[in-house]
Amino acid sequence: MENLLDNWKSSQELIKVRRQRLLRICQGLSISGSMFLLFFGAIGIANHNYIIATILLVSMFVALVNSYILKVKDNLEQSILIINTVLLVLALMLLYTGGVNNSGILWLYPLFAISLFINRFSVAVYISIFFITLSGIIVLTPLINYIPADFSDVIAFRFVLTLLALAIICLVTLYSEERAYELILKLHSNDIHNLAFYDSLTGLSNRWSFQQNLQKLIEQQESPSIALLYIDLDNFKLVNDNYGHDTGDNLLVHFSKQLSESLHDIDVARLSGDEFVVTLKHVANPHEAEIVAKQILSFFKEGYELDGMVYPVFASIGICLSSNAINMSSQLIRYADAAMYKAKKAGNNNYCFFDADIAAQLFEKQSIETSLKQAIDSHDFSLVYQPIFSCQTGNMVAIEALVRCHNEGLSGYGPDKFIPAAESTGLIKELDLWVIENAIKDFIHIRQSVGFTGKLAINISGLELLNSNFPQKVKDITEKLDIPCSVIDIEVTETALVADNPTVIQVLNDFSNQGFSISLDDFGTGYTSFNQLILYPAKSLKIDRSFTNALFDPGTSQAKVVQTIHDLAKIYKLRLIAEGVETKEQLDYLKKLGCDWVQGYFLSHPIERDEIITLLRKEYEAKATANTI
Ligand code: C2E
Ligand code: MG
Ligand code: MG
Repeated sequence: MENLLDNWKSSQELIKVRRQRLLRICQGLSISGSMFLLFFGAIGIANHNYIIATILLVSMFVALVNSYILKVKDNLEQSILIINTVLLVLALMLLYTGGVNNSGILWLYPLFAISLFINRFSVAVYISIFFITLSGIIVLTPLINYIPADFSDVIAFRFVLTLLALAIICLVTLYSEERAYELILKLHSNDIHNLAFYDSLTGLSNRWSFQQNLQKLIEQQESPSIALLYIDLDNFKLVNDNYGHDTGDNLLVHFSKQLSESLHDIDVARLSGDEFVVTLKHVANPHEAEIVAKQILSFFKEGYELDGMVYPVFASIGICLSSNAINMSSQLIRYADAAMYKAKKAGNNNYCFFDADIAAQLFEKQSIETSLKQAIDSHDFSLVYQPIFSCQTGNMVAIEALVRCHNEGLSGYGPDKFIPAAESTGLIKELDLWVIENAIKDFIHIRQSVGFTGKLAINISGLELLNSNFPQKVKDITEKLDIPCSVIDIEVTETALVADNPTVIQVLNDFSNQGFSISLDDFGTGYTSFNQLILYPAKSLKIDRSFTNALFDPGTSQAKVVQTIHDLAKIYKLRLIAEGVETKEQLDYLKKLGCDWVQGYFLSHPIERDEIITLLRKEYEAKATANTI
């Protein structure tokens, strides 16, 4: 699309340059012409040739006004018309008078040539015909007796023939320039056409043209329906990362060719990166689409073979058949895309049909998104806080802010459902900043009410790690509310960490340099390798609650995972926090293991700000009593 825009821009540029050039010529002609006319007008006055002098000086005045108008109004067409008129008047005058001793007629040639060159070819043809005919009539016919000019027949013939030759030379030159210009524009518009409709790498239809064609097909749809196969290549990013983008491109081109050549009577398009679609036009039953899907999957047996190498690339295919309920191409694409996601979840090289379950999930996602938009508009959110306790002292050492939504459409949905929707709609930016500001305000209130010295943990979306301005925005809030950054812990979910992304590391370092501490939340669910941990300026690891919950489940190795995370935390000198503690056994186990902090329903559910204050008061009172005893 960027290329398309560039090409469009450059053809517009070409038109602009051509116009600009003509504009400069007209400007130059008007100014130099007015000097010339002033000079000869003055000679005319000196020679008492008042009629001629007046015509010349009036023309000079018109030429000057023209150059001024051209500068102010930028109206090229009007300017050309004025110059043509001045040239015609001068030419007629020369024809009528013959100039001084009839030799002034020679000035007609440059006047005529100028007139032709400032006009487009077609106009120049008319001017030539008009001018040569008029000149011929004036100098060759009996009219000659009524004008002061006195030409011999030979001179008159020579004059008309020279005009004709000049006209032909000018017209041929103009014509070839016009053709060259049209050709350049045509080449540009061909490029524009190709870029608008086809993918530049594979030559397949692009998203735009595919969508247009699909819409037409849906509108003309008869009983055998259309089937859309949405193909996404699994692990394609690995090829780009490990073997370079050239290999990645080769693979895409090769796969595109294979698709087009092996499947007949189908439309193939590339939607983006590694996403392709195949449209089957006359599908009598789902089985026909299934056969094609299997054929495509057979290209990826042990992986994808290219130039003797087998790359670990596979395909996931979502299939959706058109029905009366589907009347928009975007709908069919969305459904096939959703089916593709289900196929992907099932593992490499799978296909899946769009069905009622997927439809229900899509519907749920849409309604969550709609309600979330309403909730953001009406600030329908509140915060609760879950206490975090020290394993050694049993004291509350931190509170974790957790957002709740009160919109009717979202009743029953927790943040684990609506946060992903907020992320996919881009609403998360607003929500995250709202949570941070309001959690800090509540935290200040708690500190002032009971003198709490612990920390405030705030969850941020993984998307914020790609936003390099985010740490500064958070810092601005802390400055506005006058709270030290060191008491705030930023919780980042482990799955959001992308080791080779410099922005992610930069954002984490910015937070750390500003004095915030960082916890890696839901640890154990992502793919952070041992040596990657060193890249992140984290202070704590929070064991995901799924591991805590399943600590004593028979037949699972969750206890080993928790032990490994514990060892890792100790090696890297990180604080270990266990979340999701629901039973005394879990708590005892974690304490014995050497966990630093714990949180979970067994100790406290997430509660309101004022309940945290009450809990802290009780804790401080109990401590005071214990001290006095
Ligand atoms: P998280 O950060 O891991 O938060 C802990 C979640 O575990 C909370 O769920 C909490 O209510 C729940 N939990 C705590 N103890 C127990 C327990 O003993 N048993 C069980 N089964 N669950 C327990 P919640 O509040 O539903 O939050 C879910 C996730 O949503 C959070 O996971 C966090 O990733 C995200 N989230 C919550 N609030 C925010 C927020 O303000 N901003 C952002 N960006 N994400 C948030
Ligand atoms: Mg958390
Ligand atoms: Mg967590």
